[in-house]
Amino acid sequence: MQVDPGKLKIIHYPDPRLRQPARPIEEVTPVIRDVARRMLDLMVQADGVGLAAPQVGLPWRMFVCNSTGSPNGNMVLINPRLTQMVGSMDSEEGCLSIPNVRGIVRRAAEVTIAAGDLDGRPIQMTGRELAARIWQHECDHLDGRLIIDRFSEADKIRVRRALRQLESEYRPARAAARR
Ligand code: ZN
Repeated sequence: MQVDPGKLKIIHYPDPRLRQPARPIEEVTPVIRDVARRMLDLMVQADGVGLAAPQVGLPWRMFVCNSTGSPNGNMVLINPRLTQMVGSMDSEEGCLSIPNVRGIVRRAAEVTIAAGDLDGRPIQMTGRELAARIWQHECDHLDGRLIIDRFSEADKIRVRRALRQLESEYRPARAAARR
């Protein structure tokens, strides 16, 4: 797959690439590092706290995030896995790929995540609240799952109009149409 990191953009629902389960990354190549840097830029520009590779149209198991609000908190996680999930907590979530849609999502309150970093070193972290929520949201993206799948029936009805609007605005990418 030829990738030009500078051309990557955040894709929106209902782009089918958001529903495609992502594949493990076998080796951290220079392209992967450039894509990670671009994803961090896109996340910061969009005022987001996390962005998964499928959200830029790439079926790769990686995401970037920052739960701290400080530039030092930028992180890249390669092949992340949630290894422990404790408790549960309801909180409102949005998604950079589903503009103007927010709803309550139930998540584990505390999770442990194992991943690799851009140097191929293993990372393991335990987080609560916002960090735990971001990791679960981004891991969902890697499995093709979106927040709207986890909304209550009432929230699903409430956001129906906004989703229809996004559906009417959606134009398939040319590369996707050619496939
Ligand atoms: Zn999202």
